[in-house]
Parts: sequence; structure tokens; C-alpha cells
Amino acid sequence: MNDDQSRALYDRALSVMPGGVNSAVRAAIEPYPFFVRKGDGGHVIDADGNRYVDWVMGLGPLLLGHDLPEQVRAEIQRTASEGPMYGTPTEVEVDLAEFVVRHVPSVEKIRFVNSGTEATVSAVRLARGYTGRNKIVVMQGGYHGAQESTLVEGDAENPKPSSAGIPQSFAEHTLPVPFNDEEAMRDVFENHGDDIAAVLTEPILANYGIVHPVEGYLETLREITDEHDSLLIFDEVITGFRVGGLGCAQSHFGVTPDVTTFGKIVGGGFPVGAIGGRAEIIEQFAPSGPVFQAGTFSGHPVTMAAGLETLQFAAENDVYEHVNRLGDRLRSGLTDILADQAPNYTVVGTDSMFKVIFTREGPSAGLLEDQCDAGCVQDPDCPRYDYCPKNAADVKRAETDRWRRLFWGQMKDQGVFLSQNQFESQFVSYAHTEEDVDETLEAYKEAL
Ligand code: PMP
Repeated sequence: MNDDQSRALYDRALSVMPGGVNSAVRAAIEPYPFFVRKGDGGHVIDADGNRYVDWVMGLGPLLLGHDLPEQVRAEIQRTASEGPMYGTPTEVEVDLAEFVVRHVPSVEKIRFVNSGTEATVSAVRLARGYTGRNKIVVMQGGYHGAQESTLVEGDAENPKPSSAGIPQSFAEHTLPVPFNDEEAMRDVFENHGDDIAAVLTEPILANYGIVHPVEGYLETLREITDEHDSLLIFDEVITGFRVGGLGCAQSHFGVTPDVTTFGKIVGGGFPVGAIGGRAEIIEQFAPSGPVFQAGTFSGHPVTMAAGLETLQFAAENDVYEHVNRLGDRLRSGLTDILADQAPNYTVVGTDSMFKVIFTREGPSAGLLEDQCDAGCVQDPDCPRYDYCPKNAADVKRAETDRWRRLFWGQMKDQGVFLSQNQFESQFVSYAHTEEDVDETLEAYKEAL
């Protein structure tokens, strides 16, 4: 595979950008990432003209793939052609806000921002402002963007910054606990309950192996936070408008948080974030309330148009049916291949998310069986229950050097683009086809 252009571009980039990239994960590919020239349906074409089936899809935002349907593209182009932005409100912001309020159970009001990170920063400030408390409980291994309050590791009694540049005194207000561990959650509330502003979690951990909540866990979080007058914040930056369709993961699980953060799909491929929730809480944002929040680009008309048209297209067409069906086909195809060739690996995911992770040495392969789709972790009677990762420690044990060689090197050489991070989810889009799935399964078969 010729990659002269990507190599030359990476050389130039290294002299002017840290690590040659604008976001850390992009440099994870050794010896250098490929540079994309353009997208084409479910594929990307790199600077050297190589074509890849793309399961990264911009790390999640591209529900419709790279070729936007005509009506979506036309609205984005019309909006951009009338002038990029104004610093004063536009109708399309109201349209998108109304759409989200109509479809997502927890959202009565919403504020749009420019990234998932900005959404979680603002949600944490909002929770602290609303409750008058300081501490935020997060899940070990959870990711909520590049922000001070959540780049914290360790445990609730010994939290530490996970990045240089964050004071220990900041980290002390963040309490990491294991996901799916009811007792740990009860303990942290026992010890700090009076000062816990919120529990912040993804309903399904999608950045670290794809870990599903065990049956009743999200309900327990709802109960404990209610008992202690703390807020429950679901970070649906990835799961929002993907898992559970337009109602998001919260409608899929039937658990309604107080506040939800969004990003990715809600901006149709343009920079976006949002914080939605109960009206009396969201109203705490300035100017209606005392929690300061503002942004030059917030509610950007082109982003709002892209998000609205994307979601409207999904509401009127078979988008979720298509992506979920291909997701099932990928997961069950992979399960068969693993059973046959690589019993140490497990398929995880649901709806249009999938991932293959190394989980164990042993003869019993594959996580999913016919009746044991994605929610398998919720069923303790499932014969494969023990192999399902249930928290970050399980996922961490799955870390392997093999991954780089197998799934990145060999899959890329066969023209399949998988996520750069060992544990981050991969995504099916409306532009993917059954042929893309079959080609990908063949490549996995070969690589394994
Ligand atoms: N929350 C979650 C759950 C995410 O997965 C991400 C990014 N993948 C973020 C927040 C941060 O979003 P952004 O990269 O748009 O700042």
C-alpha cells in the first residue's frame, strides 16, 4: 500500500503541531496516521488514493456516513452561503432545541455548545451551581472529554489527576468508582453524600471496551441520587441519537436522568455539544440563572442546520433500522469467526456500535449467541456472563499488544479503518452496505 503522501504530510505536521495532530488519539497509529483526502459513503480515501471501509465515522458523529442525503447537504450549504454566523439568535437553533425536547425523555430545555467536552464542563458547573455542592462521582475508565473535573483516576478515597497540568486540589472534588458496582456507589454516598453534586456517567461506557450496565444498575443510580438530592447526569455524547434511536440510551433503558450531555450526532458532523435536562435545572444557566455559560460559536447556524436535517432525515427514513441491522450482522458474523478462530476474543456492542476485545485465554469463544445480543451482560444466567466486561478493571485486563498488529496493522492493510484506540467503539452509518460488512468480516477472518 503506497503511503508516500501521508508520510510526507505527517513530516510537515510534526514540525508545526504537537505529535503532528490536533487531537491526541489520532497519533496512536504507528508509524504515522493516514491523512484523509475525502469521504465516500461508508468509505474514506486517503491522500495516496487508498480506499478504506470506514468504521470510525469521525469517532461517532456521522450517523449518515460521508455522503449526506441531498436535502441535508442542501440545507447545510444554503445556511453556510448566507453567512457563517451572527452572534445573535437564529430560528434553526429553536428548531433543533424543539426537536430534541420532543424526542428525549429527560430534556425540557437545552443549551447548545461546541463540543462534548464543553458540554460536560458546563454540566458539572451546572450541577455544582444547582446543588451548592462540590463533588462529582464518575466511573473509573469513563471518558467525558479533555476537562479538569473528569481527567481523574484512582478511587473515591484517593483521586489523582490523570493528566499533567491538573492540580491535585481539583482532583479531590472528583470521586471515581467502578461501573456496575452498587456497593461502591452506596459507600461513596455514605462517606460524601452531603457534598455530592452529581453522578456523571455514560449509560453504556463507550470509550472503554463498550461496557453495558448490569440489570438494575442505572435504576440504582437513579434511586441513590434521588435519596441524596444529587443529580444524575447521563453523558450521551456517544450514545445520544445512536443507542435507542431518537430517544437515546435513556429511553432504551427507561431511566431518566436530571441532566443529559450531548455531542457528535446532534451536530450532524459539525462541532457541537449540548446540555439538556429538567427546566428548573437548565434555567440555572445565565442569563436566566446564576451559573455562567457562554460561547461565541454556540448554536452555530451551520451546525444547527446539519444536526436538525440529520435527525429529521433519521426520523423520516429507515436510518436506525439500517444501522442496527448491519450492527447485528457485524456482531453475529464476528461472533462466528471468533468461535472458530480466536476464542480469546469477545464481541461487544449494541445497536450500531461494535468492537472486538481480547478477554481471556480459553476454549469458550464469543460473547454473543442468538438469544444473547448486546444486553448479555444484563443476564446472569447467560453461559457467557462471566466473560462480559463489567467495569474498567475487566477491560484493562483485556489490554494486549496483539491488538495493534492484528486489528490496526492487518485490517488497515486490507482496507478496513478501525478505531485508533484499542477500546473505543466503532460505528455503523446509514451509508454502509452489506458488502462493506462482508468485506470487513473477510478481513477479520484473514487477520485473525
Ligand atoms: N463524553 C463522551 C462520552 C465522549 O465519548 C467524548 C468524546 N469522544 C466526550 C465527552 C468529549 O467530546 P468532544 O471530543 O466533542 O469534546
